Amino acid sequence: MSTKLDQINYPGTKTQKATKIAVAMGDGIGPEIMKATLKILEKAGAELDPMFINVGEKVYLSGQSAGIDQNAWDTIQKHKIILKAPITTPQGGGYKSLNVTLRKSLGLFANIRPVQAMDPFIQTGHPNMDVVIIRENEEDLYAGIEHQQTQDVVQCLKLITRPGSEKIIRYAFEYAKAYGRKKVTCMVKDNIMKLTDGLFHKVFKEIAAEYPDIISESQIIDIGSAKLASTPENYDVVVTSNLYGDIVSDIVAEIAGSVGLAGSANIGKDVAMFEAIHGSAPDIAGKNIANPSGLINAAVMMLAHLGKTDIADNIKNAWLKTIEDGIHTADIYHQETSFKKVTCAEFAEAVIARLGTAPSTLATSQLSNGSGSIQLQPYQRKVEEKVLVGIDVFLDWRGENPEVLGTELKNLGAELMKLKMITNRGVKVFPHGNKHTYCTDHWRCRFVAEEADIKATPPDYKKVTFERILYLQSKLHQAGFDIIKTENLYEFGGRRGFSLGQGE
Ligand code: NAD
Repeated sequence: MSTKLDQINYPGTKTQKATKIAVAMGDGIGPEIMKATLKILEKAGAELDPMFINVGEKVYLSGQSAGIDQNAWDTIQKHKIILKAPITTPQGGGYKSLNVTLRKSLGLFANIRPVQAMDPFIQTGHPNMDVVIIRENEEDLYAGIEHQQTQDVVQCLKLITRPGSEKIIRYAFEYAKAYGRKKVTCMVKDNIMKLTDGLFHKVFKEIAAEYPDIISESQIIDIGSAKLASTPENYDVVVTSNLYGDIVSDIVAEIAGSVGLAGSANIGKDVAMFEAIHGSAPDIAGKNIANPSGLINAAVMMLAHLGKTDIADNIKNAWLKTIEDGIHTADIYHQETSFKKVTCAEFAEAVIARLGTAPSTLATSQLSNGSGSIQLQPYQRKVEEKVLVGIDVFLDWRGENPEVLGTELKNLGAELMKLKMITNRGVKVFPHGNKHTYCTDHWRCRFVAEEADIKATPPDYKKVTFERILYLQSKLHQAGFDIIKTENLYEFGGRRGFSLGQGE
């Protein structure tokens, strides 16, 4: 249920101009750091009117498996901006991740995590790092589509879409433009995943060409993340898909100095959510020692998103000055670099006392020089000719010798469809397999039109009708084969829309 603002002693701004936002106080250290952040927002004149929502541990324990109640959904739908403190997911099964639920339900496609070193005021091995990770938030392996197909084999579908890739990559370039960033680096693994990561990379190259003033480069994720960890100062904006982004955004947060510092934004077409990157830290909850900086930085991102860039700069500069003055919470306190160890509430007071000032060594925040808010055009699908040219039939087959399976399938008598090859875990085992290849009970059998030659140029492919592939499957079934899955093989606009088997 929405709590009245004055019930927790934050008057906010009640003028007509005030922007209503949904605020989740969170669990563990959540309420402490949120109170500190709201107080700074109020004193900086952010003109926000918080509408408090119930999410997290109490809601989970009341029996709502997603950790959010209907009133919270209604408030979010109405006001479209969420400032969220971290929540605790109760131990044990049956509880769904609130963050995943919010991201997917609200279409929050972009996760933005800026991480900046505060050297020499906060110890880090990378004094010049100032990098923003922009991670696709909704698709990839996180689509959550998994199946056990045979006794030996489980699969997880990696879904990369053109609209999803276009949205996140264009967002990355627009972000670079809005926030005065110079370079965007794309990280993919398209040397292996030629279709999925290949699409992401292709879209990156297409969109990069529209932004000639911004440097663009691509790296393979393995070496890219290694270089990001060793020389983060060479990166500016990094854009990547969901799983890689999950990993690299934690790498940069870890090497910057403290998990208590960075904020993040989850951006959708209509709704946006801002939060600290850390969790609810139950080990220090209620002690008034938590660092509110992550949530303060998230609130700065929220103000920039709302176009309130002057207030965002004012708070960010006051925060930078507080860090420079050595006013530090316990997690970043060091005898050599700090002046005073403060509580969470005292840190907020120190930031408030410095509103209107600027740091002298650290770079001043200049969000107001950019545009702050980012608008994307709706996706336009281009029509391409789609031609069915074959089918991959996956069989659960307990035999060991692919030659036996291959010979049986060749003699099936499925009119007008011929066996092209069999692979096991992607490696060609028939015809002419290698006797050392290990085989499971999961066999991919590729059938194409009788006359077709996959190596032939596109116009020479023989089209396959749906009736033919149904007939093939019924022949397989009649012959006692256990079909566990099929994938149609298509060409799109004359391009092969499926990968070749290793060794094909
Ligand atoms: P955590 O980030 O809460 O804590 C990790 C360590 O960092 C702890 O030692 C903690 O004391 C310290 N720490 C974290 N934030 C700090 C801060 N602001 N100031 C000072 N020290 C800080 O991670 P965890 O312990 O793995 O998770 C605790 C709970 O948080 C779990 O229930 C988890 O599910 C949840 N969680 C929530 C979110 C979210 O709501 N976005 C994110 C991550 C974890």
